[in-house]
Amino acid sequence: MAHDPSLLDFNISPELQEMGELLHEVCRNEIIPRRLELDEKEEYPFEIFKKFKEAGLPAIMYPEEYGGAGLGLFASILFAEIVSEYCLGVNTAISATKLGALPIEHGGTEEQKKKYLSAFASGEKIGAFGLTEPNAGSDVPNLSTTAVKKGDRYILNGTKQWISNSGVADVYTIFALTDKSKGPRGMSCFIVEKGTKGLSYGKLEQKMGIRCSHTRQVILEDCEVPEENLVGLKPNRGFIHAIQTLTSSRPAVAASAVGLATGAYKEAVKYARAREQFGKNIINFQAVQHMLADMATRIEQARLITYRAAKYAMAGHPDTAKYSAMAKYAASETAVAVCNDSLQLHGGYGFTKDYPIEKMYRDAKILTIYEGTSQIQKNEIGAYIIKESATLK
Ligand SMILES: Cc1cc2nc3c(=O)[nH]c(=O)nc-3n(C[C@H](O)[C@H](O)[C@H](O)COP(=O)(O)OP(=O)(O)OC[C@H]3O[C@@H](n4cnc5c(N)ncnc54)[C@H](O)[C@@H]3O)c2cc1C
Repeated sequence: MAHDPSLLDFNISPELQEMGELLHEVCRNEIIPRRLELDEKEEYPFEIFKKFKEAGLPAIMYPEEYGGAGLGLFASILFAEIVSEYCLGVNTAISATKLGALPIEHGGTEEQKKKYLSAFASGEKIGAFGLTEPNAGSDVPNLSTTAVKKGDRYILNGTKQWISNSGVADVYTIFALTDKSKGPRGMSCFIVEKGTKGLSYGKLEQKMGIRCSHTRQVILEDCEVPEENLVGLKPNRGFIHAIQTLTSSRPAVAASAVGLATGAYKEAVKYARAREQFGKNIINFQAVQHMLADMATRIEQARLITYRAAKYAMAGHPDTAKYSAMAKYAASETAVAVCNDSLQLHGGYGFTKDYPIEKMYRDAKILTIYEGTSQIQKNEIGAYIIKESATLK
């Protein structure tokens, strides 16, 4: 499919710009003073959530008919970009709710959408998305959690691995096989509420980065879920919901990478202006300027492909999955490279907790791993190249 030049016009409305300014202000006031302590103590950002809720910010990511601001996918992109400039851990904790909401947004019944999306939009409930398993990471179709119908209930058994917000979330969207004989096509998605009998959580994972975002297993042992909690009320549609969710959330992950890279770049510029060596500020060395130039250029490239992927997703374009994979791959590798160079420009001081770049560097690495590793994004792009090669003129 040829690219669509009309989707290069990003048209960021005054409403969105205003939202961005408010978000920057809240993040500066609420995240900067707390981020290092939350990271050290592995503390979940409940206090920050409270402030976000008071400012009506969770609504930004949801449709108007379910209590959201109705600003569209681009609002979620800007939200992820801005929050991640200040702390990728806080953004991951917030975005995990949106990730948990997406299968309901894509495939839920009107009743399910009203009940759950409204509670996410108001900030009243926290969500989580449970797809990955101990033996099914990149290999999603290999999942083994089962859901067996018994009367008017489904009985879920299995373990979900690396689930962001596990233990703190009120609502989990869990993928399980309702028809094993069909493989991934026999997968369904269920809404499991906290407190459901048979639902428990693993230990808090000790991570190198995004430590205020809590990651645990979700354990399902004869977990009984009412049949009305089957997303869309139709079984065996879970694989489609999972793909739709990942395709629409990858531009937001890419945006969070652009945000983190922007934060790391700003730290580098501030430091290079202030640090004096050989009788001048290091920003005056051309080698330093070249590093900053590379960082600024890569960030702008990543931002453009991210916004473009978002536009494709919003337009429902058939090539959305290709651009989402490209954006996630390009932006996450950019964030890792920019954080590395920013720390380098801080010299020995960057290797200490005295400067925010130490945490940003640790946080960055997850971006090339979660929601599909860089290799998996390239597999997806490769599949498109093969498909397109048949009609290449
Ligand atoms: C902090 C954190 C939070 C997470 N949050 C969530 C969440 O909320 N919900 C959820 O469902 N999941 C979540 N995940 C899971 C995440 O999406 C997976 O970790 C990721 O998809 C990779 O799976 P894996 O860890 O099993 O690695 P593996 O799939 O075992 O991959 C190991 C290596 O092999 C490579 N590889 C595997 N297959 C191929 C292939 N076909 N071609 C080339 N290379 C390949 C990979 O790229 C990687 O380098 C989270 C993970 C982490 C670490």
